[in-house]
Amino acid sequence: NKKYDYLIVGAGPFGSIFAYEAAKRGKRSLVIEKRDHVAGNTYTHQEHGITVHDYGAHIFHTDNKEVWDYVNHFADFNNYQNQVIANYKGELYNLPFNMNTFYKMWGTKTPAEAAAKIEEQKKVAGINGTPKNLEEQAISLIGTDIYQKLIKGYTEKQWGRKATELPSFIIKRLPVRYIYDNNYFNHRYQGIPVGGYTQIFDKMLDNDLIDVQTNTDFFANKDEYLKEFPRVLFTGMIDQYFDYKHGQLEYRSLKFETETIDENNHQGNAVINYTDAETPYTRVMEWKHFEFGAGDEDKTIITKEYPAEWKPGKEAYYPINNAENNDMAKKYANEAKKVGNVIFGGRLGQYRYLDMDQTFHEAFEAVKKEFNLGSDFKFEEK
Ligand code: FAD
Repeated sequence: NKKYDYLIVGAGPFGSIFAYEAAKRGKRSLVIEKRDHVAGNTYTHQEHGITVHDYGAHIFHTDNKEVWDYVNHFADFNNYQNQVIANYKGELYNLPFNMNTFYKMWGTKTPAEAAAKIEEQKKVAGINGTPKNLEEQAISLIGTDIYQKLIKGYTEKQWGRKATELPSFIIKRLPVRYIYDNNYFNHRYQGIPVGGYTQIFDKMLDNDLIDVQTNTDFFANKDEYLKEFPRVLFTGMIDQYFDYKHGQLEYRSLKFETETIDENNHQGNAVINYTDAETPYTRVMEWKHFEFGAGDEDKTIITKEYPAEWKPGKEAYYPINNAENNDMAKKYANEAKKVGNVIFGGRLGQYRYLDMDQTFHEAFEAVKKEFNLGSDFKFEEK
């Protein structure tokens, strides 16, 4: 196709940033997207004045000033801070584990008291040597009470397996804070774009040099696309691109159930985790609280998030980075290097869990490389 310099597969953050930066450099792109909307997993829509995140709660948090300044050019960010509540059989605790959690659990008031309590619990549990599974790993890090009430049920639901049957590497460390601070993230910059994420990618793609075709799957016409386009950016699944010749990479999926309720304020917080084993969902989001209660006063929208087995054809959310999958991903990455005219990027193209800020950073790196901008180049929006 002589009209375009690039075919971009996927209108998520990675593909959109690439198309936008290519257009700045006078290059034309056709962006194809198999869903009926742009913005990938960050997609949001409005209902009753409330911004709903269709693929799970997305909070932008970063230490990367370049990325933060850049994204702020496309939306106004509020100063939302993620502060999650855990509900264990009706008992409420603050997350992440901090002095408020410990006070509620044990009545400890000083950092020294809390640390002593955790030490005592670790000793009683008596785990010696290398932890054999996730349960031992968690107890050796935080003791039995927090493990039993706040980790065990949640983790077992998420992975669909007993904690004693899960590998210990899933929990490498547990963030423990000996301060009264409920902010989930340690990053310097954090917020939610007022009105949602979709506007960011709409603005990037609204350009004379960019055409967008939704409801279009690359694999419906892979050979023709590769013949017609001189350069391709592919942000879909890397194993599918190579016809699964080294096997199928595994993911974890999720199921979302959204309902509108005739009430102003349903749960009083944006995110509540259900950490017992019996409640079938892992968390409930109440969307208006991400924007400080914005939206109709007599309505609220909540979404229950359920863990789900992933099978081909289902939404792939989290890569399962065990040794087997990582080895396989490496083989695909080596294949990818041999394909001269295709760039592989984004979370599915790289088989990596990427937060949004990392995705922006990775897209910047790809643009620098493609356009020979040099490693010191800075992405700035005026
Ligand atoms: P995607 O957003 O997945 O976009 C890829 C696009 O390519 C999709 O639209 C897809 O439909 C399309 N595509 C795939 N294959 C094809 C094909 N064959 N043909 C055409 N189109 C195709 N990040 C944070 O920073 N903060 C958070 O709080 C956060 N929460 C998250 C919660 C969940 C449940 C999940 C799953 C992710 C979360 N993330 C969060 C990560 C964030 O979603 C990613 O960083 C971001 O979406 C990655 O962008 P991407 O463009 O690489 O991939």
